[in-house]
Amino acid sequence: MTTTVTITGTGCPIPDAERAGPGVLVDVDGLRLQFDAGRSTVQRLAGAGLPNAEVDAVFITHHHSDHLTGLQDLVLTRWVMARGEVRPPLPIVVPAGPAESFVREMLHPWRHDLDVRAAHANRSDPLTLDIFPFDLPDQPIEVWRRGDVRVLAGQVRHEPVHPAVGFRVETPDGVVAITGDTLVCDEVAALAAGADVLVYEAMRFEKIRQRPPHLQFILDYHADTPRIGAQAAELGVPTLVLTHLIPPPESDDDVQAFVDDIRTAGFAGELVVAEDLSQVTLG
Ligand SMILES: [Zn+2]
Ligand SMILES: [Zn+2]
Repeated sequence: MTTTVTITGTGCPIPDAERAGPGVLVDVDGLRLQFDAGRSTVQRLAGAGLPNAEVDAVFITHHHSDHLTGLQDLVLTRWVMARGEVRPPLPIVVPAGPAESFVREMLHPWRHDLDVRAAHANRSDPLTLDIFPFDLPDQPIEVWRRGDVRVLAGQVRHEPVHPAVGFRVETPDGVVAITGDTLVCDEVAALAAGADVLVYEAMRFEKIRQRPPHLQFILDYHADTPRIGAQAAELGVPTLVLTHLIPPPESDDDVQAFVDDIRTAGFAGELVVAEDLSQVTLG
C-alpha cells in the first residue's frame, strides 16, 4: 500500500497567485481524503490527477472562510462532472457548530442551479451530502473509518474560533497528523504523537511583529515557526511539512527564513516548506 500526502493549498486569507487556499489530500491506495477546501482547491485537485474532484470524504477543521471557500466548488464539481455515473453522497466530517451549519446551508444558494441542471440533463441523482458532525473531543477520537484507514479528530487552540480541530490519519503505511489552524500547544502534541508526517500551519511571528498594530491580533492564534521546530524535535516526527504560510514567501530567501527558524529550534528531520502540490509518500 502507499499513502500519499499532497498539499492542495499552502495559502491563507492573503491572496497569492501561486498559492491556493488551505487543503491537504491524503490518498491511501486510491481512497482520497480531503482536509479543508480553501480557494481553488478544485484546480489543485485537477493538478493532482483528480480532474473532477473525485474525492471520497472531506474533513473540516474549523469555520474560518479561508478553509471553506472552495468547498461548494468541490461538491458542485464532483456532482456536475459525474454525468452518467452515480456517485455516492459525499461524506463531510465536521465539528458540530458553526462549520456544521455552513456545510448544511452551503447548497441552498445553488438550489435553482441544481434544479435546472438536474432537469436539463435528465438526472435522477440529486446532489446530496452525508454530513457527520462530531462534538469537540477532550482527547483525539475516531470520527471516521473505512477498512483499515481511520481518521481521528483532536481539539487545537485557535481561540476565539471555537471549535477548531486537527486530524490524525492512521493507515497501514503510517500516521499523518494535520494541525489545521492553531497555536503550538499540547493538544497538537497529543494529535501528532508517533506520527510519521506532521503537516503544520506556520507563521513567522518575527515578521508579523514588524507589521502595523492593527495586524497584531493574528499572533493570538497561529503557530510560530521556532516553537514548531522545537515541538517537532521533541515529538521526533520524521517529516515536518509547513503550510498555511504567513507571510506567504515571495522569494527563496523568504522560504529559507522558514527553514532557518525550524532548524535553529533543533528539528533535524525531513523538512518541507510546502508549495501547492508538494507531496510526501509513506509506505
Ligand atoms: Zn486559516
Ligand atoms: Zn483559522
